[in-house]
Amino acid sequence: MTAVSRPPSVDALARSLSDSGLPHPICVDLAREAIADDDIESAPRRADAFRRTLLTDVVNATGVLLHTNLGRAPLAHHQDAQAQTVEFDLATGERGSRQTAVGQLFARLTGAEDSMVVNNNAAAVLLVLAALAAGRDVPVSRGESVEIGGSFRVPEVMEQSGCRLVDVGTTNRTRLSDYQRAIARPGTDVAMVMKVHPSNYRVDGFVEDTSIAELATLDVPVMADIGSGLLDANVPWMKGAPPAWLASEPAAVQAIGDGADVVTFSGDKLLGGPQAGIIAGRADLVDRCKRHPLARALRPGGLVLRSLQETALTYLDRRAATEIAFWRMVDRPLSELGAAAERIRAALANDHGVDPDRLSVEESLALPGAGSAPGITMPSRALVVDGDHLAALRSAPVPVIARTRDGRTYLDLRAIDPSQEPHVVAALAAALADA
Ligand SMILES: *Cc1c(COP(=O)(O)O)cnc(C)c1O
Repeated sequence: MTAVSRPPSVDALARSLSDSGLPHPICVDLAREAIADDDIESAPRRADAFRRTLLTDVVNATGVLLHTNLGRAPLAHHQDAQAQTVEFDLATGERGSRQTAVGQLFARLTGAEDSMVVNNNAAAVLLVLAALAAGRDVPVSRGESVEIGGSFRVPEVMEQSGCRLVDVGTTNRTRLSDYQRAIARPGTDVAMVMKVHPSNYRVDGFVEDTSIAELATLDVPVMADIGSGLLDANVPWMKGAPPAWLASEPAAVQAIGDGADVVTFSGDKLLGGPQAGIIAGRADLVDRCKRHPLARALRPGGLVLRSLQETALTYLDRRAATEIAFWRMVDRPLSELGAAAERIRAALANDHGVDPDRLSVEESLALPGAGSAPGITMPSRALVVDGDHLAALRSAPVPVIARTRDGRTYLDLRAIDPSQEPHVVAALAAALADA
């Protein structure tokens, strides 16, 4: 009998993939596919490709500090497998509300009477409109009837909530009198006016909008979707004056102070916390939101609430500048970014024999990202290499996500924590050895 080479058994091939760290049933699927395609050699490659479809830690070298595709605000959170008082009142021993603990902290932080938390800001806007304006009219400036990344479109959210959008003013100018006319028009039933921060775009030139303080003079409640979650325009948690790039970013404390009855904002943008949406405002209005049936569908779990509680306490303790990753990135001086770039270049030369002349340290511009502060940049430093190395950098064990411009690869240092520098060195060493 002559030996015929037979395909290995699915099980043997699957077991040979166990080094990938993938669970056995996944390895079996991949082994089956490789055998079906008559391409056994591809099995390890398939396992590697599958592993890279899972959520993976990466180095954000894009210079976009809150990169929506990279999870917005980077956040550390540890929690033991313990029961916690998510809906339990320790004082009475009775059932409590999951909105109490974090709600009181955000009320304190924003200066509002009360607050509550839902899964994201899109949910916050939807809930406020559904609870306070369903079946009624809500005037919105034509300049604020916007789409914000990830297909959050103001007219569509309003339609879903069951309220009627009333366009007021023009794309570039909307005055208080436009709102007054909309409210006085016979046959309209205005529940409230909504002001939306256009977030990711800006109209320059002959523009005018109506401030929250002006809107607060109307007889109807004012809701302000401020978006990014800057708590206080004076950034009291930072040393020194507020950074210039924050100048036109609306903030919760000032919105409430100017007379907004309800404000909504995201947890994972400038607030620097977990994905969440915060509704803060008048106690009676927040209470109507809490009691609306949608609140049950949009409620966050204990994991998010606990993490957001941590974020709130960090601000109240004035530890945000050092303990919220986003503010730490913002606060890093250029000299430190330049030194980080030089450290990486030196490690590549000393430990990997890379000619230091292949890398230059250049001025760069970082962006807050996540639709905050449109058109605004902050000075930064980048390591720059000739050629497009994006794919090679992504294929590193800890992938590095960079950018290219004019045939050169830019690794912006501002969003790279010093603890991640060895990953950048490893990725660049491999990319430049291949090139
Ligand atoms: C980002 C943003 C949203 C959507 O918030 P998510 O937390 O992403 O759901 C809504 N409104 C404004 C003004 C925003 O900037």
